[in-house]
Amino acid sequence: MLYRKIVIFIIVLFFTFSFIRKSEENTDKFIVVIDAGHGGKDSGTIGYNKLKEKDINLSIALITKYITEKYDSNIKIILTRKEDIFIDLKKRAEIAKYFKADLFISIHADYNPNKNAKGGGIFLEKNIKSKNYDILNYKKSLKYALILDNILTKKLKMKSRGIQFDNFSVLRNTLSDMPSILLEVGFISNKEEALYFEEKGKKGIAYSLSKSIILYKKENE
Ligand SMILES: [Zn+2]
Repeated sequence: MLYRKIVIFIIVLFFTFSFIRKSEENTDKFIVVIDAGHGGKDSGTIGYNKLKEKDINLSIALITKYITEKYDSNIKIILTRKEDIFIDLKKRAEIAKYFKADLFISIHADYNPNKNAKGGGIFLEKNIKSKNYDILNYKKSLKYALILDNILTKKLKMKSRGIQFDNFSVLRNTLSDMPSILLEVGFISNKEEALYFEEKGKKGIAYSLSKSIILYKKENE
């Protein structure tokens, strides 16, 4: 009996220490929370060829995590969802705060009844005067947005609608703790862009996100 207790004690001790070591490792890393918009019962917008926004957002998030961590082992990407599940907006911000993220990126795709509407856009929170917002985080958000916009337009040759300002729950609820942006990758209501996202577009955006994260981290070192 005593022997069993000792064995259990040693096992518990081992897991406790490996957990502590793991969390210590994570604190040294540059942590980016990538939020694949929508999921589960919430499909987001539905575009050409019945393409669902939630699926595009998730694919981009997963590819970005894979290539970024492979390229730079000092970056840890945490996803608010790794599969097709519903997570409410507040919870997404809570995840980013829990992990003390250095950067928060929410991924979405757009819809417009005008099927000719095209192009991606980067959004920053509009109401910066509220006491919830940290001005330094706001400046960093803008800095990151400029890096990302530059890569998307110059390297990926994406049609850009530029950096815009709007009200988004995930930005509003994260900006007090970290820089945060929302990326609208393009219009899946547009045939050309929908077909692009069905094929190589997801990788194209993921590589651009990855490059922008690595560059932003370097500039902050
Ligand atoms: Zn969306």
